[in-house]
Amino acid sequence: MNRDDMLASIRERQQPWDLVIIGGGATGLGSAMDAASRGFDVVLLEQADFAKGTSSRSTKLVHGGVRYLQQGNVSLVMEALKERGMLLRNAPHLVHDVGFIVPSYAWWESPFYGVGMKVYDLLAGRYGFGKSSYVSREGVVEAIPSIQTEGLLGGTRYFDGQFDDARLAINLAATAFEQGGTLVNYVQVVGFEKDDAGAIEGVVARDLESGEELRVRGRSVVNATGPFADGVRRLDRPDAAPMIAPSQGVHIVLERSFLSGDSAIMVPHTGDGRVMFAIPWHDVVVVGTTDTPVDEVSLEPRPQSEEVEFILETANRYLAKPAVAADILSTFAGIRPLVKMGDGGDTAALSRDHTILVEPVSGLITVAGGKWTTYRKMAEDVVDHAVTLADLEPRPCVTQQFPIHGYHRNAERFGRLHFYGSDATEIEGLEEADARMAEPLHPRLPITGAEVQWAARREMARTVDDVLARRTRSLLFDAQAAIESAPRAAAILSRELERDASWEAAQVEEFTEIASRYLYPA
Ligand SMILES: Cc1cc2nc3c(=O)[nH]c(=O)nc-3n(C[C@H](O)[C@H](O)[C@H](O)COP(=O)(O)OP(=O)(O)OC[C@H]3O[C@@H](n4cnc5c(N)ncnc54)[C@H](O)[C@@H]3O)c2cc1C
Repeated sequence: MNRDDMLASIRERQQPWDLVIIGGGATGLGSAMDAASRGFDVVLLEQADFAKGTSSRSTKLVHGGVRYLQQGNVSLVMEALKERGMLLRNAPHLVHDVGFIVPSYAWWESPFYGVGMKVYDLLAGRYGFGKSSYVSREGVVEAIPSIQTEGLLGGTRYFDGQFDDARLAINLAATAFEQGGTLVNYVQVVGFEKDDAGAIEGVVARDLESGEELRVRGRSVVNATGPFADGVRRLDRPDAAPMIAPSQGVHIVLERSFLSGDSAIMVPHTGDGRVMFAIPWHDVVVVGTTDTPVDEVSLEPRPQSEEVEFILETANRYLAKPAVAADILSTFAGIRPLVKMGDGGDTAALSRDHTILVEPVSGLITVAGGKWTTYRKMAEDVVDHAVTLADLEPRPCVTQQFPIHGYHRNAERFGRLHFYGSDATEIEGLEEADARMAEPLHPRLPITGAEVQWAARREMARTVDDVLARRTRSLLFDAQAAIESAPRAAAILSRELERDASWEAAQVEEFTEIASRYLYPA
């Protein structure tokens, strides 16, 4: 994928595109891949980097949602479990199963959660990841040696999926591109072009790197901007009533020693009645999340200290070695694009399903809600809507069984580079070609110069943040180490993108500013 080529094909296009997609998160990228693989002409415009928004800030679970089961939302759970199974089949290099333990410290917990997890197994049917079971006290300690043993009675084990969200996003972009799609980052939609009757004919967009204005005509326009959806709807209709109730979720990242073993902990009922997880991810542990309604939607939401303290306090009830603020390697926040039902209020009661809204006059199609796990189904539904509305030739969705870029059945053999899947060999090639590129960027980060080269050459990385936050996950693994590796990453990137010393310096400064928010306290 090359950004200049993408822009050139947008400029050269004479005909209207079949679909113009606004937003390059899970929903937009999934929709671009769906449309391209059906043979439609599709262009996707992302204002920042792919997955810069919510889609790089999830809990990294491919799951049915045990919490929705508690709420009795069986159809939502069943659909997500089916999608979980398909995603494992289509992207085995990025999705794998993890054993979760629900520890019991009260006599009723094991039978209660044991029955709940049996229902979860049943709903998964043939897409199941493994059967849940009762685990003795000894079994729990064997699975999680670092668990708090005082008062521990036993637990329930169940299985769910885990993935790398930003890596899946970039692989979806690559798949969409390979299917003929055009996708460009750092292009912001700033307005719509309409005919005399008020129907949308295209979008006005700005290349945020050059300032160039682009006019992109489309037979249908899809607003897949997640928590930003209302802002884009208001470009079409300034008086549009809001449909999104944004809610912030925070995670903290700790060293693996806090959660030894390969199992995760699921806390089904926190002090404020929510679900919380502590999950081994790459070489760290991700703990979260919270659910705090917010008024403002930003690309870099700030974790609030109360949220971080709440996570620490809850986690420490289950960890033998309590974590303190100084143990936090990184903390990150994301905004859920929850769709309002009625007057909202408690975010846990908002719709977790996805919603498609078509503006009656302009025909703008907005898709929002859902979750990462169900991105494929959301994409299928919204492309079906676009086909009907724009009177495109109906063509069946083919993504149920469709290998995603990087597909590899045994990616573990690539060791440290396993999450690149089939691309790993090319990165190994870059490391072999130049020994300096095989050196880690930082003693505490397993990232090499070759990965920066790869991100710039093949994955459309444009900034140090793109490389350290999403193409690699350095910023989430260890924010301080990421800040310290920024100058080296900037130097390699600058060479790759043919920039000068002042660009390099500005990149380091910009990244340091962003990354300082991931330190705790900031
Ligand atoms: C804390 C948290 C934890 C979660 N954990 C999980 C989980 O474990 N598993 C799971 O399945 N789901 C999870 N989710 C849900 C999941 O992450 C989201 O549902 C999903 O990422 C939303 O994707 P999206 O594409 O709709 O939105 P986004 O990822 O936010 O993408 C929208 C994009 O639109 C772009 N955009 C906005 N305005 C414009 C414009 N004018 N022009 C061009 N581009 C624009 C933005 O820059 C952004 O990149 C979690 C969510 C949160 C907040």
